[in-house]
Amino acid sequence: MRYLKRKYLIFLSFILIILGIGYFLFLRKEHLNYQINSMIEDNPKYLISATIPKTNISNIDQEINHFIQQQIQKFKNISNKSSYLLERNELNIDFDYNYFNDRYINIVFKIDIYDGKNNYLIQNYLYDLKKGCFIDVLSLFDNSDYVYKTVKDTFLKEKNIMITNSSNLYMAISNPYLDVYIITDKIYSISIPLRELGFQLSISDDCKDYFLTSQVSANIIDPMKPVVALTFDDGPSEYTKEIIDTLKKYEANATFFVLGNKVTAYQDVIRESINNGNEIGNHTYNHKWLSRLSKDEIIEQITKTQNILKETVHYTPTHLRPTYGSVNQRIRKNTELEITLWTIDTKDWKVKNVDRIVERAIQNIEDGDIILMHDIFERSSEAVKKLVPILKEKGFQLITISELEEVKLLRTKF
Ligand code: ZN
Repeated sequence: MRYLKRKYLIFLSFILIILGIGYFLFLRKEHLNYQINSMIEDNPKYLISATIPKTNISNIDQEINHFIQQQIQKFKNISNKSSYLLERNELNIDFDYNYFNDRYINIVFKIDIYDGKNNYLIQNYLYDLKKGCFIDVLSLFDNSDYVYKTVKDTFLKEKNIMITNSSNLYMAISNPYLDVYIITDKIYSISIPLRELGFQLSISDDCKDYFLTSQVSANIIDPMKPVVALTFDDGPSEYTKEIIDTLKKYEANATFFVLGNKVTAYQDVIRESINNGNEIGNHTYNHKWLSRLSKDEIIEQITKTQNILKETVHYTPTHLRPTYGSVNQRIRKNTELEITLWTIDTKDWKVKNVDRIVERAIQNIEDGDIILMHDIFERSSEAVKKLVPILKEKGFQLITISELEEVKLLRTKF
């Protein structure tokens, strides 16, 4: 009898231990559990399929639903506006759910939109469970430039994925991986073991309800067809937004060489410009004549602009356009940025007539040219509205400076 009782007790403790471990695991994995809501709509004008996670963490669910509803509404508005469609428009929303550890959940939305052309959008939500807010993935890295560079030069190269614009590259975390999303002619993703990158994630105190959206139209470049690079100096200004809207309308991109002292005031327009696939270059901090400055002053003018772009819009330019197009050895020696001048000067700062500006841009234009304009004049914005469709008509692809260099490099290989 006593023997049986002891056996019973051992059995009972065994059950309790199992239940205890189970409960502990359940607690740990509590956030691993989520439901999925689906929405499918079949309309004469469009098709929608959306898959959305429901985490039961109200902050996350609220934000996600708001974002998704916005996307769906925007898509429906565009689709309903088109009176005749060859093909129906399509919106497809999918996501990756990554439970990183007790502290972070990372949800990445991958959105495909077809509205006559293909558009891709990535929206990344990294949530700090401990602090109860969204944070920026890059704030987990001590040196985000190093991470970008390593990912680009090692892991993407291995897979033959070439990107010319770091805004097409998105990072998320899913222990023990760094997930990299790349938008080129579609959305690619690769997972890189964190230990292979040779760094640890640091705990971030950066709690500022921050998320980045990337929307990149798939402007696929044919390196064998004519290309031209529009560039704008001295901005941003109140006219920049109109210029990037015109570019977007014609599926064109350009490079904006910005002044560091204007970045904070115009950060929204810079962000939108980057998201549209445009490139941002460095045009010094406050337009000092670079050639006349000392070594230290040159470095200060350049790095102050690099830093403010990095802090405000998480973007690191790779190209410098020296003020007044004037370059000397001292400038060359003291920057790692590529120095970019131009081949066609519209003189839009002097020529007051819109048609004259357009004419100056196109009269001798050739494949591979770089056109200089300034996004600080209304007349320049008006000229862009005329110039871009003319260039498209002539068969030019309007690309960024980095893309132009990539194209020239590719051509030497054929
Ligand atoms: Zn300038």
